[in-house]
Amino acid sequence: MAFHHCIFCRIVARDAPAYILAEDGDCLAFMDINPVAPGHALIVAKQHAENIFDIQAPVLQRLMGTVQRVAQAVNAVFLPDGINIVQSNGPGAAQSVPHFHIHVVPRWQNDDLLMNWSLRPGERSAIEANAARLRAILG
Ligand code: AMP
Ligand code: ZN
Repeated sequence: MAFHHCIFCRIVARDAPAYILAEDGDCLAFMDINPVAPGHALIVAKQHAENIFDIQAPVLQRLMGTVQRVAQAVNAVFLPDGINIVQSNGPGAAQSVPHFHIHVVPRWQNDDLLMNWSLRPGERSAIEANAARLRAILG
């Protein structure tokens, strides 16, 4: 079921804009609009599930294939020193959107990124350009 008040359901339904990277039957990948680094991307389940406890296991398993593909593209385009795969559940874990998603976070030595980073809007033109570079690899 889709929830109209849920921003990620709206992106899945193309009711809200996003820099989309890849899509299949189970999930949608798009750029985070408050990127902690160039290339910061999200993979969301198409079906609304709030968190790791609610998502159906087969959907989660299939979603991980896209997480790997996006991580490979981010690695190839941005050549980071490392990548964190981050997934948050509940306010204590700083989950800000209650619709299951997985972050692909490119990391650089000494970037001093903390686990509960604060949300700061990125520059749209830069995010759009980074999305285009990733799409070229993801096809
Ligand atoms: P979390 O804090 O783990 O729930 O992550 C939610 C992420 O969604 C944050 O990094 C936000 O920047 C990102 N986000 C929220 N709204 C949007 C949107 N409309 N398009 C893209 N990313 C979004
Ligand atoms: Zn939703």
